[in-house]
Amino acid sequence: MTEVIHYAIVGGGVSGAYCAWRLKQAYPDQNIVLFEYSDRIGGRLFTRQLPGITDINAELGGMRYLPSEHKIVHQLVTQLGLKSHPFPMGSPEDPSGQKNYAYLQGKNLFVGDFNNSNKVPYNLAWSEQNKTPDEIQSMVMRLLVPNWQELSFDDWFEVEVFGMPLWKHGFWNLLYRVLTPQAFQFLKYGSGYDTNVSNGNAVTLLPTGGDYSSTNQYVTLDEGMEALPRALADEFVDTYHGRIFRNYRLASIQRQEDRNYRLQFFETQTIASKTQDVTPALGHELVAEQVILAMPRRSLELIDWDCWQQDDFLRENLSSVLIQGALKFFLAYDYAWWQELGLVAGRSITDLPIRQTYYFTTPKPQNCSSVPHQKALLMASYNDIESIPFWKGLENGESFPGPEGSCASVLMVEEIQRQILELHNLRETPKPYAAAYHDWSEDPIGAGWHSWKAGFKYNEIMPKMRHPVSSERVYICGEAYSADQGWAEGALETAELLLKEDLQVPDHPTTEAWCPNYLRRLSY
Ligand SMILES: Cc1cc2nc3c(=O)[nH]c(=O)nc-3n(C[C@H](O)[C@H](O)[C@H](O)COP(=O)(O)OP(=O)(O)OC[C@H]3O[C@@H](n4cnc5c(N)ncnc54)[C@H](O)[C@@H]3O)c2cc1C
Repeated sequence: MTEVIHYAIVGGGVSGAYCAWRLKQAYPDQNIVLFEYSDRIGGRLFTRQLPGITDINAELGGMRYLPSEHKIVHQLVTQLGLKSHPFPMGSPEDPSGQKNYAYLQGKNLFVGDFNNSNKVPYNLAWSEQNKTPDEIQSMVMRLLVPNWQELSFDDWFEVEVFGMPLWKHGFWNLLYRVLTPQAFQFLKYGSGYDTNVSNGNAVTLLPTGGDYSSTNQYVTLDEGMEALPRALADEFVDTYHGRIFRNYRLASIQRQEDRNYRLQFFETQTIASKTQDVTPALGHELVAEQVILAMPRRSLELIDWDCWQQDDFLRENLSSVLIQGALKFFLAYDYAWWQELGLVAGRSITDLPIRQTYYFTTPKPQNCSSVPHQKALLMASYNDIESIPFWKGLENGESFPGPEGSCASVLMVEEIQRQILELHNLRETPKPYAAAYHDWSEDPIGAGWHSWKAGFKYNEIMPKMRHPVSSERVYICGEAYSADQGWAEGALETAELLLKEDLQVPDHPTTEAWCPNYLRRLSY
């Protein structure tokens, strides 16, 4: 007799691992299986180490969280007993990294100079002067939405700007109506991320100035952010006796006459950290009562399911989020040469294609005044959207030493080194001895993160997307269709709401009094 799975959870990122863990806790006797395309649990939480550096992780995906905002992440970290430590944005004397570097329009300056229009290389209007990019964005918000402090999440969808609901405006379109083009350039390049000024839904983007602010008290996990989904998956298997099928790609979903789902999987293989289908194809058909797709937009689109086309809501709204590329690049050096420039932690910012450089520094041993000569890690580039094709153009050719599957090319490393020199106004630095990089635009994930498109009233779409077709028992969760896009918290919020509100799974003690971040947060 064919085995029937009660819950097939597809996607072993943080949202899928959480669903599996919570469901098996609530229903220990049910047959609950987690399926993952690759051999690794974690998805876009992806921690690697570079040779010779064991005390600092190369976080190729998510790298930090805010305990005060990211309640589910914080509660899970505590409950699972994971160790965390601060993720500083500057030195103890300069905690917000004001003395970190900036290089814009060919001019070297400090991040702390951003509110000094005499130093900033943009020709700003009077009202835009002497403000940081965050302060300019905040000024725009106060101007367009004077009562912003009183608004609940749903209220934002009632706001009208220039005779049209705010949610119909693209953020880039809107900024061009109220800022000079020079101020727009400053916002784009001075904030470090193209995402911050992309043409996504203005309701999402207008109130987020300061989301990546250097005054935020970030935290990260000692074992790396991937330790969170891994710990959930380990408990799911070891404590609750759930099953994980790694290297299984869901290819299609078909409803049977008995209302169960026939799921077609293909086996994949991961060689040197790269995953692809086994050839010749090795397929498996399994039957499930309920299916949870814990994955982003591109992954969903790659699955053959009639409802994507036949259901009106899905046909109109599956593409309601922008797919936004992101790429990270790490270099390992024999010592932290940046410390001699007073750079300790946090980021320097530039309009060069490397866009952001983050410093990681092992604390000096006590009673040691000089810079210790121990191997050190630099996140040489963290870039998104428009810079990605620049790096893709240098992908080929000889590989630079680095961890299997995350190797960069020699051409990329040489170009990054050139830009690092320009950003730091140096003639030379020591040569890196290893590199690692990851481009998140590759299938099946296809995106670093997502942003709601303009013209979509996503306060209504979001809850419906969790259970898009009421006659079907196929559910969707994950970061892509959440209110905290770009954060693990967003992925977990949709997962918890799906369990609590759509599947009526009994409360877990840690989530009993929980309320999603976007409903808690009245003011930004
Ligand atoms: C560069 C970068 C920086 C980030 N920085 C931060 C940060 O600092 N802090 C933070 O909180 N968040 C950060 N994020 C966001 C965070 O990593 C994500 O929001 C979160 O990890 C997404 O989890 P998810 O479960 O929604 O999806 P994913 O992690 O994408 O998981 C989806 C899983 O589904 C699998 N899959 C896809 N298709 C199939 C299929 N057909 N069959 C089987 N399996 C399939 C994939 O292999 C993957 O493992 C960052 C993301 C990136 C890319």
